[in-house]
Amino acid sequence: MPNQARADDRCMLSTIAMQTLEKTHPKLTELKKRLAEIDDINCAASLLYWDQATYMPLGGATARGRQLATLRQLAHAKLTDGAIAQLLEDLSTDAADLPYDSDTAALLRITRRQVERATKVPNSFMAELSKHRAETYQVWAKARESNSFALVQPYLEKTLELSREWANFFPGYDHIADPLIDASDHGMKAATIQAIFAELRSQLVPVVQAITEQPPIADHCLKQFFPEADQLAFSLKLIQQMGFSLDRGRQDKTLHPFMTNFSINDVRITTRVQEQNFSECLFSTLHEMGHAFYELGNAPALENTPLAGGISSGVHESQSRLWENMVGRSRPFWRYAYPQLQAAFPAQLQSVPLETFYRAINKVSPSLIRTDADEVTYNLHVMIRFDLELALLEGSLSIRELPDAWNERYRSDLGLVPDSDSNGVLQDVHWYSGCIGGAFQGYTLGNLMSAQFFEAALKAHPNIPQQLEQGDFESLSHWLQTNLYQHGRKFTAEEIMVRVTGQPLGTKPLMRYIHKKFGELYDLPLTAIAA
Ligand code: ZN
Repeated sequence: MPNQARADDRCMLSTIAMQTLEKTHPKLTELKKRLAEIDDINCAASLLYWDQATYMPLGGATARGRQLATLRQLAHAKLTDGAIAQLLEDLSTDAADLPYDSDTAALLRITRRQVERATKVPNSFMAELSKHRAETYQVWAKARESNSFALVQPYLEKTLELSREWANFFPGYDHIADPLIDASDHGMKAATIQAIFAELRSQLVPVVQAITEQPPIADHCLKQFFPEADQLAFSLKLIQQMGFSLDRGRQDKTLHPFMTNFSINDVRITTRVQEQNFSECLFSTLHEMGHAFYELGNAPALENTPLAGGISSGVHESQSRLWENMVGRSRPFWRYAYPQLQAAFPAQLQSVPLETFYRAINKVSPSLIRTDADEVTYNLHVMIRFDLELALLEGSLSIRELPDAWNERYRSDLGLVPDSDSNGVLQDVHWYSGCIGGAFQGYTLGNLMSAQFFEAALKAHPNIPQQLEQGDFESLSHWLQTNLYQHGRKFTAEEIMVRVTGQPLGTKPLMRYIHKKFGELYDLPLTAIAA
């Protein structure tokens, strides 16, 4: 926060100057108008994407791909046509004295970054990348279904080439992955993430080892038949009790759950259901609800500007994981919600004690699939992908060698070898619908941040667990809203961690959480980690 002290010393005069600038400067009004148009185009694209992923018949795919590409290119062209850059330039002198924290200073700062970034990548390259991504996605879907990596290999080779090309539009990086990482987690670099991941890994591996030496937790209470309609109804009812309002959002079914929004008053979450596995629908609903809360909590003044939304993929993920895991897999929460769940599924759960259910939803077991992984092993899945991305971009690993490298890492890190590429290197959509580089680190950064935010919330309101037991989510929601959600994208991830938790991002809060929760669950003598 280099500008914080300066900002705090503002005299009355500059406050008046700021208010005048914000109210009357015609160039600021013009800038906001142009940015609002771009936001409208992007929201229209998001709506088309939401429709594609929920209700669109398959036959619509080709036209929808074209329509999305048109809108994205239009938004990119409007951002980079020089007019916005000129307005930013014209405003720079008058805005120089604005406090760092003010909405206008943040708007100019974030817009400048967006324009600089977008201008470096030619529109023709974006069009080629967009076309290649759409084609690769279609081939990947077939490759995964038929367990044939060979089918998608040439496409992925092209993706790697394009990813390197994209990174090279941003010369001066320390590592070729840095520009790709920066696109989703601004301010982060490969070296910083490697250091934090290495520290986390060295602490996680002994915990996983100690747990796998214990008798496994029984989780068959979750693997009964739970009718789809009842699961959807229960999860929707539960998130409404937690504060998700159908006046400002809705939930629909999809193949790969996601959240999107078209304004701060219209948020769409999606889920999927397995009738033989109760966890899937409920926890993906809680996860997407966490993403939705972040967007719904933006200050109304940020609406229709580049400041609306979440800071980075890591900070966004911290909210989904906080609500899914820190709250949704906690004992206090289920003391409140379990009687309702038993009432909704009496045949399946009436005779299952709360403690049996709580242990089942927190079972730790090394597995092949990232999205099914428990809280302890999840980050090991992410680290495998992150390391492989770096090796591919560096050129020390080829796409042809990728499936074997993947399997070897699963053997060494999780003690399991995938039975097929579909359950191995083909499982995640990310590389096959985007770039290689920057795709995965946000998941683990998000887990680390979720524990650090939750610890800070508990410090401010030590009775949050007792409130959760009563179904009272107000203190926690209000704390997150005030400290994080309302600011939208005004600050960087680094700034918000220090502002909100008093500390830069670290591994200790997550490891404290894991030691406490899983030490108790598995009766392990895990040493407490000092504050
Ligand atoms: Zn998420």
